[in-house]
Amino acid sequence: MSIGKGIPFLDLITPHRELEAELMDAVRGVITSAMFIGGPAVQGFEREFAEFCQTKYCVAVNTGTDALRFALMAAGIGRGDIVVTVPNTFAATVEAIVQVGAIPLFVDVDPETSNMSIGALRAHLQAHAGEQIKAIMPVHLYGQMCDMDAIMALAQEYGLMVFEDACQAHGSEYFSKRENRWLKAGSIGKAAAFSFYPGKNLGACGEGGAITTDDETLAQRVRMIRDHGQNKKYHHLIEGYNGRLDALQAAILRIKLPHLQEWNEKRRKAAELYNQLLKEVGGIKTPSEHKWSRGVYHLYVVRVKERDELQRHLNEMKIGTGLHYPIPLHLQKAYGHLGYSQGDFPVTELLAGEILSLPMFPHIQKHEQEQVVEALAIKAILQ
Ligand SMILES: *Cc1c(COP(=O)(O)O)cnc(C)c1O
Repeated sequence: MSIGKGIPFLDLITPHRELEAELMDAVRGVITSAMFIGGPAVQGFEREFAEFCQTKYCVAVNTGTDALRFALMAAGIGRGDIVVTVPNTFAATVEAIVQVGAIPLFVDVDPETSNMSIGALRAHLQAHAGEQIKAIMPVHLYGQMCDMDAIMALAQEYGLMVFEDACQAHGSEYFSKRENRWLKAGSIGKAAAFSFYPGKNLGACGEGGAITTDDETLAQRVRMIRDHGQNKKYHHLIEGYNGRLDALQAAILRIKLPHLQEWNEKRRKAAELYNQLLKEVGGIKTPSEHKWSRGVYHLYVVRVKERDELQRHLNEMKIGTGLHYPIPLHLQKAYGHLGYSQGDFPVTELLAGEILSLPMFPHIQKHEQEQVVEALAIKAILQ
């Protein structure tokens, strides 16, 4: 069988080639105006992204990690406070919690969705009642929504704030029975964080991030925190940071944002095709999606027993794959001080050994997906 030219895990070239003329114009506009920090590009993007997320406010910052950090800080979460989250996420979720002085309390994930387990959350909140728990940080991993009605109900019961890590979920939707309508990721909790790292569903040509919220006071505080704690030049009301989104990235994001919905739909179509094609292949578990979730497939992650072998095989066939994430955060050296050990989160640990992210991007072609599935099928037969 011919290997062909291979299939990348992610194609960042094609979308930029398609928009090249507009992107160059936007970049030229910022350079000729010399408004590099703040200004109309940043304000315009904030307005448009808030509208996309159906929130009142969006504050653009320099990374998704700072978006998480600044949201917690602005809400007054700090030293000694406990924030409940999952070990099955990217390190940034926990960095943000630890770096504001708070303590992450992990709960395991659901084996079907890979997202925060509601049963585990409830059990932990009961077991730790009376402790300094202040917030829950659910992560909409792979662009699939967490069960937000249940999380919001528990937050209400225990008087906690909810911060959505929506860094992989630009445009994901959740059907809320409480509100009887579809809600956008980033519009449900007290505030949410988005990342515009180039590989995300909406990516900058560099670093970028944003906080969305309906809370005016929180939005104002984040605006100060990202700008050295100033509300006016040289009037530092609080200790802040240099965490602004620069105007070049904002201008670029404004060109891409109008395409996001279409790109997300293409990802959903590609996911459907994978689901269909992979039905024929034994031993591969495709991602499941609840009726209440309309995910945006930032990643398409299957589960297989002989994962490492299969990944090696795909690699030999020049098919790009990824592992999101191979080592759960509670087992990372950097978080040894939290005192967790192997066996504490069995579902997360099981997933870490079985997950495999297949090529997924809006411009992936049907024949490329067929090639991926064929490569998987050959291996399955040989086993
Ligand atoms: C990408 C990502 C982040 C961090 O975003 P950066 O912009 O890279 O700082 C945080 N959480 C999750 C789940 C992510 O995927």
